[in-house]
Amino acid sequence: MYIDDDSSLISNNKIKFIKGEKNNFKITDKEDLNLLKKINKSNIKVGIGFDVHRLVVGRKLYLGGIKIPSKIGTLGHSDGDPVLHSVIDALLGACKMGDIGEKFSDKSKKLKNISSSKLMEIVINQINKKNYLINNIDINIITQTPKLKMFKKKIINNVARLCKISPDRINIKGKTTEKLGVIGQEKAIAAEVIVSVIKYE
Ligand code: ZN
Repeated sequence: MYIDDDSSLISNNKIKFIKGEKNNFKITDKEDLNLLKKINKSNIKVGIGFDVHRLVVGRKLYLGGIKIPSKIGTLGHSDGDPVLHSVIDALLGACKMGDIGEKFSDKSKKLKNISSSKLMEIVINQINKKNYLINNIDINIITQTPKLKMFKKKIINNVARLCKISPDRINIKGKTTEKLGVIGQEKAIAAEVIVSVIKYE
């Protein structure tokens, strides 16, 4: 039998080929069924987080829960840690649990100047209770100053401790904006994060 393309009608045998989807595969034997069960069990979700804070004189600079020596620090209702805020938002996104602003209002007097590590602990407990495990975290820290190279390992270890995972599951990339825009002029610092989590039964 000759098939000239996968959607052709085979004239003699009246077989019609319909384009399908890879993840909508047919189940013909037990092996197929076991594969389907495995795919359904591997419940991986991803989430994205982004945050930006103004840099001002007279505030401290916390990144990933680590105090970084700097003449300028982040303005914020909490300690203004853009790294932890982005990780929190990415985790909440992956677990379909809303966002950081909904969970911790910037109008709350109780949360004024609160350590973001504390907020992180609350969120980690909540996602663990819902049977989510953190698979990996990838973090971009976008800042003209300070240079992050010497703090990277410290931040990774601290985020790992807060998330109760191995540092091997966390990656940090330091970026500048080539002196362009508000970040380049050292007026702001930003972070963006992607996480993947696994839900287990
Ligand atoms: Zn923030």
